[in-house]
Amino acid sequence: MEERLVAPCGMNCAICSGYMALTHDVKSKGIRIPYCKGCRPRGKECAFLKKHCKLLMEGKVKLCYECPSYPCTRLKGLDKRYRSLFRMSMIENLNFIQKEGITSFLRKEEAKWKCVKCSSVISCHNGICFDCGLSLLAEKKQKYRWEE
Ligand SMILES: [Zn+2]
Repeated sequence: MEERLVAPCGMNCAICSGYMALTHDVKSKGIRIPYCKGCRPRGKECAFLKKHCKLLMEGKVKLCYECPSYPCTRLKGLDKRYRSLFRMSMIENLNFIQKEGITSFLRKEEAKWKCVKCSSVISCHNGICFDCGLSLLAEKKQKYRWEE
């Protein structure tokens, strides 16, 4: 996992279905998930907050914890959705990065999202590994939900 894939909000794009769909070319396997290069590589600094955040828009903040209003209402809303549906917390990620550094964070993420079958990466959006679980993903109706 790479630092450039950690978005300002604390999202790790490496475990996002949109990023994994692109890197695994799921379209060629008949799976329809919108592709995304990752928030930073897209040059959109932030897909969720940017239009509403002047500091992000002007590139004055690299990670949201650098902001005087951290955590802002919008980030808290996003965080709440991800905690309840997608088994992660942007705010928890950012606090960890601030305290322990990006290298420890990436190491922890690699362990947390490791596929038990093939050691590749599972998506935070549905728990599916895009290396060994693509047939599961193809059959799955709600692609942005975990099974249990
Ligand atoms: Zn796997």
